[in-house]
Amino acid sequence: MKVPMVDMLAGYPPIREEIENAVKTVFNKANFILGEEVKKFEAEFAAHNGAKYCVGVANGTDALRMAYIASGIKAGDEVITSPFTFIATSETISQIGAVPVFADIDPVTFNLDPKSVEKKITKKTKAIVPVHLYGYPCDMDAFLALAKKHNLILIEDTAQAFTGKYKLGGKEWKSLGNIGHCGTYSFFPAKNLGAFGDGGAVTTNDQKIYETLVQLRNHGSKVRYHHEMEGFNSRLDTVQAAVLSIRLKHVEKWTEMRNKVAAGYAKALEGVCVTPVVPANARHSFNYYTIRFDSKAKRDNAQKHLTEQGIANQIYYPIALHLQEAYKHLGGKRGDLPVCDAVMDTVFSLPMYPELSDEQIKTVTDAVKASLKAAV
Ligand SMILES: *Cc1c(COP(=O)(O)O)cnc(C)c1O
Repeated sequence: MKVPMVDMLAGYPPIREEIENAVKTVFNKANFILGEEVKKFEAEFAAHNGAKYCVGVANGTDALRMAYIASGIKAGDEVITSPFTFIATSETISQIGAVPVFADIDPVTFNLDPKSVEKKITKKTKAIVPVHLYGYPCDMDAFLALAKKHNLILIEDTAQAFTGKYKLGGKEWKSLGNIGHCGTYSFFPAKNLGAFGDGGAVTTNDQKIYETLVQLRNHGSKVRYHHEMEGFNSRLDTVQAAVLSIRLKHVEKWTEMRNKVAAGYAKALEGVCVTPVVPANARHSFNYYTIRFDSKAKRDNAQKHLTEQGIANQIYYPIALHLQEAYKHLGGKRGDLPVCDAVMDTVFSLPMYPELSDEQIKTVTDAVKASLKAAV
């Protein structure tokens, strides 16, 4: 049985009519740029996360870029982030003239390790950008404490973790993205809340950051042809906002379904390989389901075996950022961030989407087990 990585159409039939009507409404009004559907979605999204403000933007990459600028990161500043993430997190740091500094990751969560971050703090450090990788919440208590102690900006890359939650101080449940100064989100189709194209957002509780973001996404202007600053053309499309409003109503249910799929995987793979362990103070959004083997050979063999059987799989991410050609000038090499090096060589991600069936889970996990038997 072939199993895809994601199946964008599996959850579509029950909401098809509602979405097609919403899109038709936008077509008929022809209010394509910053129509009322954008405002409506922003209000719904902010409410969902318990944030004061939400600004819809063109994609998750621009969300990061504009969050960095709006929260005051400038050329020459150092920004500490994870080497084990998509390049969008760091390229946007460099593109505003700041310098990405990669710290090591935690061997269990694969997220940025606060202890390693603290060692990288210098006089030039301006911000920390934890990435909730695969949907697994970062250690936000530790990052908040670090940001406070060193007076740093804290921006959460929440592209993979919308609907994820973290129990702050072991007491208060908070939506991921609503803990630091800003949270950034992507509505790329394969994320937990996917649009029918590109889209993104930033949430914040800071009025000044919010107002700057509103200007930045629209060429630095509040009033047309009056520009207090330079900005970007990076607005959330009205058609996408209309689609997102509808999908938002279902996203919690979808995350529950993802968690059920994850539980099925974990049960079937117990004692076979390392599976994600969700702590009691966190809700994982399971954008991806990533397993780890005790050697690169076993991982590579499992990957090959699954691919041969038509089971999709992917290494997120095969080359960590500090080892990428694009960051050669920063001088990173193997051994600098040993945990990250070891993790990227031994993980890979299995198919994950809400509608994945028990039969598909069995097919996938049987293939993983068979690959290990074949290896000995
Ligand atoms: C997807 C993703 C982004 C970028 O989002 P786009 O909408 O594709 O621009 C940024 N960071 C992480 C961790 C992502 O997974």
